[in-house]
Amino acid sequence: QAAISIRKMSKFYGDFLALDRISIDIARGEKIVVLGPSGSGKSTFIRTLNRIEPHDSGVLMIDGAIVDETTGLTELRGAVGMVFQNYNLFPHLTVLENCTLAPRLVRRAHREATEALARQYLAQVGILEQAEKFPIALSGGQQQRVAIARALCMAPDVILFDEPTAALDPEAIKDVIGIIDTLAERGITIICVTHEMGFARHIADRVLFMDRGCLIETAPPDRFFTAP
Ligand code: ADP
Ligand code: ADP
Repeated sequence: QAAISIRKMSKFYGDFLALDRISIDIARGEKIVVLGPSGSGKSTFIRTLNRIEPHDSGVLMIDGAIVDETTGLTELRGAVGMVFQNYNLFPHLTVLENCTLAPRLVRRAHREATEALARQYLAQVGILEQAEKFPIALSGGQQQRVAIARALCMAPDVILFDEPTAALDPEAIKDVIGIIDTLAERGITIICVTHEMGFARHIADRVLFMDRGCLIETAPPDRFFTAP
């Protein structure tokens, strides 16, 4: 059974067709990179997967369950986590509090258990020493790792990345690639929008190419990138 199964999914902004009958199956643990010109619908596409942007027609299934207006958003967004380009950390909370807020509010998880788990994920992404600091004291790469740890704290099946490397230097990009690989090895499905060809080539099992709201091709990465 596919982790994500999509049939003829469309989305309008007003009368502008932003997604035009997208169909695709994505396997559990697959690493998907979404490429395409600016404005082609990449961001909209990944946002439909956790219903930040609801689709208007077609069928979206996650882990075998149909996602529609009756779907519980809290549960869905726990299963389908998102890491944003600008990290979207809460500036008035410490790194650790950023990670434990959602599990405590949404899952009503206990403080000690949640903190222990958060520390485990912060260690996994290599920033446990920063746990008591505020986001502003961290570099961009460190903040991006906090954002990933925060997503992991909800134990997601899928993590969506929207331009995760846009603000990062090459060294930090390498770290993020390593982290994404580890997540995929653990069976987490990765769907990543990026403009960075090098990054795309390193992480992609499969590349989706979008143009004007259509998914025009899906292929293994060697079809898109010439070998060095
Ligand atoms: P990409 O991520 O490929 O740059 P987007 O998904 O952000 O593309 O946008 C696709 C198209 O939809 C663009 O033309 C954009 O201007 C438009 N769009 C995106 N979000 C909205 C919105 N909230 N309201 C109206 N139009 C939008
Ligand atoms: P991205 O390409 O990463 O989506 P954008 O700068 O295109 O970034 O969009 C940033 C935000 O503005 C998004 O929340 C998007 O939904 C919204 N947006 C984009 N285009 C439009 C538009 N034409 N009308 C209204 N909102 C838009």
